[in-house]
Amino acid sequence: MPNTVFWFRRDLRLIDNPALLEAVSAAGDDGVRALFVLDPVPFRASGGPRTSHLARSLRALDEALGGALLIRHGDPVTEVPRAAAEIGAGEVHIAADYGPYGSRRDQRVEKALLDDGVTLHRTGSPYAVAPGRVRKPDGTPYRVFTPFSKAWRAHGWRAPVDAPKTVSWLPAKDDDGLPDVPDLPDVELPEAGEDAARERLAAFLDEKVRHYESDRNRPDHDGTSRLSVHLKYGELHPRTILAELAKHRGVGADTFRNEICWRDFYADVLFHRPESVWESLDQRVGSIESDSGKVADERFEAWAAGRTGYPIVDAGMRQLLSVGWMHNRVRMITASFLVKDLHLPWQRGAAHFLDLLVDGDYASNNHGWQWVAGTGTDAAPYIRVFNPVTQGKKFDPDGGYVRRWVPELADVSGAAVHEPWTLPTQPEGYPEPIVDHAAERQETLRRFDEVRRA
Ligand code: FAD
Repeated sequence: MPNTVFWFRRDLRLIDNPALLEAVSAAGDDGVRALFVLDPVPFRASGGPRTSHLARSLRALDEALGGALLIRHGDPVTEVPRAAAEIGAGEVHIAADYGPYGSRRDQRVEKALLDDGVTLHRTGSPYAVAPGRVRKPDGTPYRVFTPFSKAWRAHGWRAPVDAPKTVSWLPAKDDDGLPDVPDLPDVELPEAGEDAARERLAAFLDEKVRHYESDRNRPDHDGTSRLSVHLKYGELHPRTILAELAKHRGVGADTFRNEICWRDFYADVLFHRPESVWESLDQRVGSIESDSGKVADERFEAWAAGRTGYPIVDAGMRQLLSVGWMHNRVRMITASFLVKDLHLPWQRGAAHFLDLLVDGDYASNNHGWQWVAGTGTDAAPYIRVFNPVTQGKKFDPDGGYVRRWVPELADVSGAAVHEPWTLPTQPEGYPEPIVDHAAERQETLRRFDEVRRA
């Protein structure tokens, strides 16, 4: 049997990688070339935290492969056929990419390979259930999460597979070199690689999953899994998580399973509606007037820097700047503030998040933003406006989260930290609110009514 190529992309792992098993089995006694192509298009759009994670994850993978990971820089349409031709490979194996950019790129690569007589084989995907599989009985896609989740559970997923036992990895000749790890002295990022991902999963299941239902909404507790970045790069497959989760009973495990389903749901929405990455799914709500100009730009800058004068919003934005991650509840609060209090388009906030999030993912991020903006698939029939003070008091009741990320408020005790303007003196260095929430809420409702009546 001839040599084969395994092209790593969003699956930087050896365990539970069915496409890799296919490449190994197709090679038989011959060799497998492990390839990663640094495609400048998505790479340039990745932002510092993700570039760093990818560079470190590739190092971990290369180490696990004994230095056999061949890195090529350039357009995959050229680089994949070249890497296959160099070893006389007849097959290239991948896990399918269902995103708008990735699926188009794969079609182009497939055609270029075919011109050389090489076939591209797709096995599996980065999701528990591949996009497009879960459908209504009439064959149309689900638009609303809850019925999707019921059908998703009923569909089920395959059991995880082991890492290949013995592989003859072909040496990485004419390697273009691993990408540099960017110097981000002020950002504290998680460890990268498959081992780190598996350790994090084990620790979460041992210590936190049983309290997940009550803790997941508390940004002051370290109660979520922090697995999003590992899922983003495929250092861990969601199927592995679901199989481990099945060993745990209770509402915590069940709620966590639902969160994994949200990830699959948003990938499914993007698959059926690729334009929804930047276009509002609900065009009517999407047409609500937004602000622009100098004041709007200044407000955006204050939001991005964590200087709006609303403590829970500022804590979230500073957490994002410091660790490339933000708690889900606070992602919703900060996103709502940008769209509903500052009247700025969700796309502007989504692009900013994508630049800074280490787990930044088009499907989850941009549809998360659309959910908050009310333009998404299962948009509520009313306009949802988060109140940053009541949200802060409810989900950070003692103010510990705010004090951790906003040092100007470190000496304010208890829930009073959520309303510094009610203190006898304004804490030094902390800004006054840049807008009045009650007034901006009314303004949002007015603009919403305008499009509803139109
Ligand atoms: P956990 O609570 O431990 O959840 C486990 C896993 O379930 C997550 O790792 C993630 O893969 C999935 N998940 C949980 N909630 C959601 C959700 N609402 N939508 C989709 N998947 C979910 N998630 C990203 O992975 N990348 C993003 O770029 C992203 N941007 C977001 C932007 C906004 C405005 C909002 C509201 C949410 C966004 N999310 C995004 C979803 C969610 O906030 C993160 O997945 C979660 O905070 C990651 O932390 P965790 O791994 O500790 O989550």
